[in-house]
Order: sequence, then structure tokens, then C-alpha cells
Amino acid sequence: MAGERPVRFAGAEVIDGRAAAAAVRERVRQHVAALAAERGVEPGLATVLVGEDPASELYVRRKREACAEAGIRSFHHPLPAQTPASELAALLDALNDDPAVHGILLQLPLPAGLDAAAMTQRIDPAKDVDGLHPLNAGLLAQGSPDAVVPCTPAGVMELLHIAGAELAGAPAVVIGRSTLVGRPLASLLLGANATVTHCHSRTRDLAAVCREAEVVVAAAGVPGLVTADMVSPGATVIDVGTNRTDEGLTGDVDFDAVSGVARAVTPVPGGVGPMTIAMLLDNAVRAARRAAGTG
Ligand code: NAD
Repeated sequence: MAGERPVRFAGAEVIDGRAAAAAVRERVRQHVAALAAERGVEPGLATVLVGEDPASELYVRRKREACAEAGIRSFHHPLPAQTPASELAALLDALNDDPAVHGILLQLPLPAGLDAAAMTQRIDPAKDVDGLHPLNAGLLAQGSPDAVVPCTPAGVMELLHIAGAELAGAPAVVIGRSTLVGRPLASLLLGANATVTHCHSRTRDLAAVCREAEVVVAAAGVPGLVTADMVSPGATVIDVGTNRTDEGLTGDVDFDAVSGVARAVTPVPGGVGPMTIAMLLDNAVRAARRAAGTG
């Protein structure tokens, strides 16, 4: 309740995103091996990187390394920042038509002058491993099992499952309404029968709303936004925030203080982050399985 001192738990379970991601990668490796043995199919992921943004270069390199480790072929297409829209569109069309490519990852953000929404819509929805095509977003909003689910929200759901969070009927708060994280996550939680409250930068009393929740997922990009007094005793708290500060990488949750109140909480780093790449591999192998008729 507002104003009361939170009951201090002995210490929250720290949800280990690295271990969870390792388990997903192992599952992916098994699917890759089965596809090769049963269908002679090697899953392939195309990565398209436009421009020289160092953070994007690093993300794409990590994704390609993870593919190699899982036995997924990756086809890398680095393009200069000045690439005309027509050229990028032609590349995406060619990848859509290439049977060796089961998934297409267009690294965002795109340089100024290129329309990210238009390019995302150009990708064949069946190869949209980021789950950002409006068709997949629409399917997810409709609760369809055929939707390709964006990687970070899919990873959050796996972590909630691993943490043993009871979702059916439970009050759950999502902080953040981006198309990449907040919106798909709210749909997923609704699909798991949680009673979802969706908060954002215009929410009046975020603390009061969070205090009512058994599950809080923070995806705002605001360091330390979720404090211990906002968390009800025994809640499960997932921190999607990845913020570079002078103190290093930090989440949206005041981890030390919230650990004293919550039942389970994810750290940053080592929580949601590792799951995002693991779920990308999962989406890529799912796309290959569907294309091979085994999905
Ligand atoms: P975004 O900037 O697109 O959206 C942020 C959302 O948070 C907005 O909907 C906004 O309304 C809300 N918000 C902002 N300030 C708020 C406040 N004070 N109170 C309540 N709501 C507020 O960001 P995004 O792409 O959704 O990413 C969110 C965070 O998650 C960022 O820190 C990002 O780096 C991180 N992220 C991490 C991963 C991962 O793999 N771990 C993946 C994607 C995003």
C-alpha cells in the first residue's frame, strides 16, 4: 500500500538470463540438427546493416557469432550509409526470393533518409525474424499463434516462465509502449491471461499502478525508474532497460533496493539482454522449420 514501508524479503531470486539464454540456444541447436538430418535444410539468416554506426555493428556481429555457434548460416550485407532506398529495397526483394534465406534481419535504426517502416514492410512476413512487420504485429495483437514475436518481448516471457511467475489472472504492469518492446509485450501478457495495465510517459501515478502489480516489466529507458517503494512484496520484476551511464550499463530498476522487496528480479546486465539474441536464433530456426513444413 502507498506510504507503508515495504515488507523486506530475505532477498529476491535473481533470474539468470545467461543460463536461460544458454538453454534456448541448446534447444535451437537441436532443431538445427533435426532439420539437417530430416530435411537436409540448413537454416539461413541474412543480416543487413546500413551505415557504420558502431553500436549497430557490434549488435550485428554478436548476432552473426551466435548464429555460427548455433549452426545457422548467416549472410551479411553491409551497405554504405548513402545507400539509396531503391537499392535497399532491391536487396530485401532478392533476400525474400532466396530459398537459402529463412530469416531477414534489417538492423535498425537506419540512417537518415531511409524509411525504416517502409523497409520493414518490404520484408516477407514469413522471414521477418524481428517480428516488426505490421502483419506480424497485427497477428500478435489478435492473439494468433502464427505471429512472429519480437525477440525481446519473447525473451521476457521465457524469463517469466522460468521464474515461475503466475500470470493467469495476475495484475501485470508494462512500462513503455514502443512497437519493439512495450506493445508486443502487453499483447503477450494478455495472451497469457494476465490483467494488463499499460503505462508510459504520460501515466499519472506510475508508482501507485506498479504497487498493485504482481508482475512489473520496465521498458522505458530511464535509469532507476522503478524503486523499491513501487514494488509490491513478492512481485516479479523484469528489467528490459539498457542504459549507458557514467556508472556503466544500468537498467530501469533500482536492482539492489528492489531485490529486498521482490520475489524475483532480473539483473542488468545478464537478464533480458542475453535472451534477445537467443530468441532471434529461435525465430530464425522457427522460420526455417515452417519453410520446411515441420514448424
Ligand atoms: P522507446 O524509447 O522506444 O520507448 C520508451 C517507452 O517508455 C515509451 O513508450 C515511453 O512512453 C516510456 N517512458 C519513457 N519515460 C517514462 C517514464 N518516466 N515513465 C513511464 N514510461 C516512460 O524505448 P524501447 O525501444 O522500448 O526500449 C526501452 C528500453 O529497453 C531502453 O533502455 C532500451 O535500450 C531497452 N531495450 C533493451 C533490449 C534488450 O535486449 N535488453 C532490447 C530493446 C530495448
